[in-house]
Amino acid sequence: MTTIVLLASLLPFSYAACYLILCVVSPWGRCYRCHGRRYHRTAIGTRRDCRRCDGTGRRVRIGRRIAEYIRTEYRAGNQ
Ligand SMILES: [Zn+2]
Repeated sequence: MTTIVLLASLLPFSYAACYLILCVVSPWGRCYRCHGRRYHRTAIGTRRDCRRCDGTGRRVRIGRRIAEYIRTEYRAGNQ
């Protein structure tokens, strides 16, 4: 019983660790706005490049942005 409780309490930490590893290994994720399709359909049916990702279909993961911010702040404080 104790091991089950212990494992359940470790689950969020292991999830966070997996996400951090994912951010390090592949910092790019699919664009939320266009789901990686790179374009939008307009009302008249024409294609238009996605403005959120500039037509690339990819965006930097939020965890990676946070890690970059922390790293920049850390380096600025240690000069
Ligand atoms: Zn997009």
